[in-house]
Amino acid sequence: RSFEGMKFPPPIINSLKKKGIEKPSPIQIQGIPTVLSGRDMIGIAFTGSGKTLVFTLPIVMFCIEQEKRLPFVKKEGPYGLIICPSRELAKQTCENISMFGDAMAAAGFPQIRSVLCIGGMPVKEQMDIINRGCHVMVATPGRLMDMLDKKMVTLDVCRYLCMDEADRMIDMGFEEDVRTIFSYFKGQRQTLLFSATMPKKIQNFARSALVKPVTVNV
Ligand code: AMP
Repeated sequence: RSFEGMKFPPPIINSLKKKGIEKPSPIQIQGIPTVLSGRDMIGIAFTGSGKTLVFTLPIVMFCIEQEKRLPFVKKEGPYGLIICPSRELAKQTCENISMFGDAMAAAGFPQIRSVLCIGGMPVKEQMDIINRGCHVMVATPGRLMDMLDKKMVTLDVCRYLCMDEADRMIDMGFEEDVRTIFSYFKGQRQTLLFSATMPKKIQNFARSALVKPVTVNV
């Protein structure tokens, strides 16, 4: 199994190589094709397993396809939302998406725009990006809830949702916020949930948020 075999284009393969990533890890071998197939997925994986690429690579490809079909004519988006328990994790995830998006843009593909919505950063900067149109939003629950509440952003066209480190998110008391965020989605979406552990609480949560998920446990 290889990233080439997963049909990622050369700019993605080259960016991976630049980071020293040559061969997919077990969660990537099982998880990436599952995500690309459009199925909901539960990934049971720790930090260090390579879980991030399981959702960032498909989301970049998904947004580029979306942009080819329907270029931005007005402010719209995001098409994809990634929710993280901490600002630091959100920041790293957003940088990961920008790196692949920029590599694709440099090779002539449509530019993917991502926005980081976390506390401790000016809302105005985040709104400027959203108002120009963004494909992917990476957020922590508190700031996103606030922005949804104030109708600064909508999830009307968002079709792709990923919750990273769901167990940490629930442990930190974000369950209600996350459920409220889910209620802002309209229409069909693909949902991914990543968690290092799968206690009953997360299982119940996953049952209510995902549809016939594939579980990948490595
Ligand atoms: P993650 O588990 O997603 O937080 O990734 C942990 C670290 O592993 C990051 O620094 C990644 O760049 C790196 N990494 C991810 N996938 C691979 C891979 N297939 N081969 C080598 N390193 C990887």
